[in-house]
Amino acid sequence: MTTVAYRTCPLCEAMCGLEIEVHDGACAGTVRGDRADVFSAGYICPKGASIGRLHDDPERLRTPMLRAGDEWRAVGWDDAFAEIERRLPPLLERYGRDALAVYYGNPNVHDHAAFLYLPVVIRALGTNYRFSASTLDQWPKQVASGLMFGSEVSVAIPDVDRTDYFLMLGANPLVSNGSLFTAADIPGRLRRLRERGGRLVVVDPRRTRTADVADEHLPIRPGTDAFFLAALAHTLFDADLVRLGPAAPHLAGLDEVRAAVGEFAPERVAEVCGIEAATIRRIAHEVAAAPSAAVYGRIGTTTTEFGTVASWLVDVLNALTGNLDRPGGVLFPKPATGSANTQGPPGTGRGVRIPGSRRTRVRGLPSMLGEFPTAALAEEIDTPAEDGTRVRALVTIAGNPALSAPNATRLDAALGSLEFMVSIDAYLNETTRHADVILPAPSPLARSHYDVTFSALAVRNVANFSPPTLPLEPYEQPESQTLLRLACIALGTGLTPEALDDVVAGDLARRLVADPSSRVAGRDAEELLRAAAARRREERLLDMLLRAGPYGDGLGTHPDGLSLDVLEQHPHGVDLGPLAPRLPEVLRTPSGRVELAPPQLLAEIPRLAAALTRPVPGLLLVGRRDLRSNNSWMHNLEPMVKGRNRCTLHVHPADAERLRLTAGESASVRSAVGQVDAEVEVTDAVREGVVSLPHGWGHDRPGIRLTTAAAHAGVNSNVLTDPAPLDPLSGTAVLNGIPVTVAPVR
Ligand code: SF4
Repeated sequence: MTTVAYRTCPLCEAMCGLEIEVHDGACAGTVRGDRADVFSAGYICPKGASIGRLHDDPERLRTPMLRAGDEWRAVGWDDAFAEIERRLPPLLERYGRDALAVYYGNPNVHDHAAFLYLPVVIRALGTNYRFSASTLDQWPKQVASGLMFGSEVSVAIPDVDRTDYFLMLGANPLVSNGSLFTAADIPGRLRRLRERGGRLVVVDPRRTRTADVADEHLPIRPGTDAFFLAALAHTLFDADLVRLGPAAPHLAGLDEVRAAVGEFAPERVAEVCGIEAATIRRIAHEVAAAPSAAVYGRIGTTTTEFGTVASWLVDVLNALTGNLDRPGGVLFPKPATGSANTQGPPGTGRGVRIPGSRRTRVRGLPSMLGEFPTAALAEEIDTPAEDGTRVRALVTIAGNPALSAPNATRLDAALGSLEFMVSIDAYLNETTRHADVILPAPSPLARSHYDVTFSALAVRNVANFSPPTLPLEPYEQPESQTLLRLACIALGTGLTPEALDDVVAGDLARRLVADPSSRVAGRDAEELLRAAAARRREERLLDMLLRAGPYGDGLGTHPDGLSLDVLEQHPHGVDLGPLAPRLPEVLRTPSGRVELAPPQLLAEIPRLAAALTRPVPGLLLVGRRDLRSNNSWMHNLEPMVKGRNRCTLHVHPADAERLRLTAGESASVRSAVGQVDAEVEVTDAVREGVVSLPHGWGHDRPGIRLTTAAAHAGVNSNVLTDPAPLDPLSGTAVLNGIPVTVAPVR
């Protein structure tokens, strides 16, 4: 019998609704966009269309795996956890909790079970050594948002559906499908922007697919966005174009911003940015003159040594032009599950503490928003601190740092030297090949789904819950069970996963009823627990969050409000309306105002100014992304890798001629820390002086179980990235703008 199931695609941030044909309890392979989905209206990309292939991939792990020398043995769950219990607690007992590190990857924020239970595991593990993909990606934006608005989750989102002018830096949403900007059907949204007379300007060293559909492309020199943005702000002050708009009463620090950008006249930054001063001035005038405008920066701006400064200046520009918290500008979503910016009374926030109080052992790098820089992971394993302590054990959860972290060669060797490693992952990949125990994560189609994270970053307020499309396969278990069982071992108190889950649910219920902003404020926590009692695990937690959230039923006080029951009755989602202004209610800064000039960012200005006088480097390497790639982890699916080699080195024709590189032949790319050979693709899509390699490739390591990916291995661009330079305010690695030399391989 064939039925149709609807679910939200969990593979990227876009939250597309999928329509999946299910035949006799198995995915029939036909996956379409769900036209009735309230958010995506039928849009789908090739990754979403391949989700059935992911489910069926015979190399996706279904049973726990135990290392036996160089071999792997499939074992039952009890045996796998017995091995963890046998080895992990004694190691922690002997060396202390900080001898263990934990690394969590991007898929955790695409899965509400992981999102809700990951903090439980991390607390139970008790280590200060927390690393994640965030310090390889978006942390600068979250640090800047935390300093300006009081919470790192308060990211201002471009109102793409209503804006008249979209200035986009270092982002390629036609390929990424949006990042820190959840907006299914980016192609349609950008097309409609232009059809209604709006203007799209893309600033990027590469002429990306997004730049191809823009009104204007400015091929900036990599790593110089902060100068460009500072010069735009300078021009706004200089030409008396600052108009704060309705946010004005809530803004603090305008004079300090004026002083901070005072030395960044367009004429001073033009050469280093590779953009003429007149163009910078014109763009500033255009943003200021547009009826509404949104400035947005993404990975090309964040993975640089001034990533937090650039992220801050993006929102400074939005504020200076009256576009902060305004329709058509940038706005703050209000997610149905609530978030740090809906909880607690506004104006009484504590803000964020940057830098954090903890330091890594080797370089003394500070924690930022509770995490250490992933660029420090290898050295924390392979270099004992002065007192001999080091990281000896690692837990990875849905992450592949062997491919995604800088100086991958060193990290790969460091992972191989660990005394014990546990991975929760769907594949035996470049990272998990070093593990002693791998605990498989179930197929995305066998999980329920709710986008807790991306609803808080979406261009429209929506809520959409998907029950599991397919049952768990034999031997599979829910990820929440795996996480709770691991937490129980780490706690060592004899709690069962079920008992720990009750503790987690009770804690959440008490927190929600104690929150004066919640719709269950002042109620009895037991009442909330009873209301959700028919559900277990992540669905119980989700139900409580929805009922207490800003659109919740409040246990009956808002009869038309949301609960999980309500969402189950709406398989295409519930539309909660367009984003609306939220100032000052969204703010959690101690002052209760938008801090336009946080001292930590002002302190970066002298360093930024000093960098203006550095010599312009020779050849710089930047990354790139492909519509059919999702970082590293979908390359084992034939539809994602078929066709011509996509892991090529893009070289501008003038550079190719100067360096005697030939299209289709190999070039040796060398940086301060490594060297790879890659096939040359000559294209004027990169600016002269810039070469580009995509990330997420390099599936040529021995011992991985990724047959299709290995047949299209490509090279790991992070062999070339250097863990030494960091954006100091966020601890984020510099993954764009790497000085390299390139020569033919003869
Ligand atoms: S754009 Fe993202 S969410 Fe939409 S179908 Fe593709 S992978 Fe899934």
